Amino acid sequence: MMASFWWKSKRAQNNGSGIVWMSWDRMTRSKANGGMGFRSLRDFNLAMLGKQGWRLLFRHDSLVSKVFKARYYPQGDYLSAELGSNPSFIWSSIFAAKDTIKLGLRKGIGSGLTVKITTDPWLPLLDRASPVPTVPGLENFMLVVGDYWYWFAEKNGLYSVRSAYQLIQDQKITPVSSEGHLFWKKLWSLKVPPKTKDLVWRAASNCLATKVNLCIKKVLTDNNCPMCGVFSESEMHLLVSCQFAWACWEYSGFSAADRNSNSLLSWLNFNATRLDNEKLGRVVVLCWAIWSARNDLLWKGRVRSVKDVVDFAQSSLVQFLQAQGKNNLPAMSPLKPSDGSVVWTKPTEGIKLNVDAAIFDHDFKHGFGCVIRNTEGELVAVFSGVKQGKVAPEIAEIMGIREALSWLKNRSYSHAAVETDSLVCVDAIRSKERLHSGFGFIVEECKFIFQNLSNVTLYFVKRSVNRAAILLTDTLCP
Ligand SMILES: [Zn+2]
Repeated sequence: MMASFWWKSKRAQNNGSGIVWMSWDRMTRSKANGGMGFRSLRDFNLAMLGKQGWRLLFRHDSLVSKVFKARYYPQGDYLSAELGSNPSFIWSSIFAAKDTIKLGLRKGIGSGLTVKITTDPWLPLLDRASPVPTVPGLENFMLVVGDYWYWFAEKNGLYSVRSAYQLIQDQKITPVSSEGHLFWKKLWSLKVPPKTKDLVWRAASNCLATKVNLCIKKVLTDNNCPMCGVFSESEMHLLVSCQFAWACWEYSGFSAADRNSNSLLSWLNFNATRLDNEKLGRVVVLCWAIWSARNDLLWKGRVRSVKDVVDFAQSSLVQFLQAQGKNNLPAMSPLKPSDGSVVWTKPTEGIKLNVDAAIFDHDFKHGFGCVIRNTEGELVAVFSGVKQGKVAPEIAEIMGIREALSWLKNRSYSHAAVETDSLVCVDAIRSKERLHSGFGFIVEECKFIFQNLSNVTLYFVKRSVNRAAILLTDTLCP
């Protein structure tokens, strides 16, 4: 019903005609996976119910929790509860969300006394909650606290419907649907007219009303390409391999791309690997212009030249970019007057530490770098570290900051400034709120070290200030 609403006109819906080009299930995939990012109502419902389950798990003193506990799990808790015989509608609904909660529920390690290492989910990873040799963020413990549960998909460690919904979607992605992944990821962020993205999304998903597709849907019997009259009109043929299309690509200087790819999606994906976003944007707009030329010929009998098509693509893109304006994004407002520097300056007294972190996806590693300079701008010290494992960016950043603070702890400088370009970390360290997550745990450590340091200040700076630390970090994993 939902898919029919999207693809058909109102009249077609009423009289049962019209074509649904893509199943609703596929359209609810995220944009990075080739879908349209629509909400799946079932999954969204589960994510909402998960919130109720989360409350049953952690708000023991609410009346609802007490009632459910007495009725359905007097001995255990929500996670260990059974559906039971003759369950109420509400209980069976909340019960259904148990798997959703298990997706993101993780045990935080404090004293470690209550953790069953091989069975409890305690690694903050989606695909594996069992141990690996090195666990990021768990070294150098200084705070002794009890073990605790948290929601690993949110920085504050608390359940949210948004992140639960996302986890359900992440679960669904099979390696098969990752075809064209890079292209999908880039497509929606391109600075090109939305109608051109929409056209290319349809074409690459085999949902364009080409003659081949209309033959499959049994609307047409002849699938000849209207541009050359020789080959069958598939998306790949019409937009790339057809001699007319290929002449457009050559004329605009994109001829190096493989003309004989298996599908339009693999051709676009190949382009996504070798072209920057600006050029990829021009590819998308030219696809759209070729499609427009085809429709002009087919429906209006108007013949366009190769030059017409390429010029039309170019002028459409230029008009769009001019209409967007240049600096219409709000500047990030600094938290403190001294935050948000754009240029690195020497410290007025003592020393300055610039710290940065990086994640090396290919090598499954993460690391940090720290550059320390004095009032003359001279190098005092440099240190860095690389660790095994893939972690969230904010974890890598906060671990770098912790190392920088630890370095200071063992030395006696009268004055020190620590600069990072991670706003999340600065926010978290300055905040009085305690975050119940792996990230929050390291934040607490940083706060703890801070309390024992005098005359040390933390600043948020723009990435341009942190160049030295960024360069250092980038050399960690060549
Ligand atoms: Zn053709």
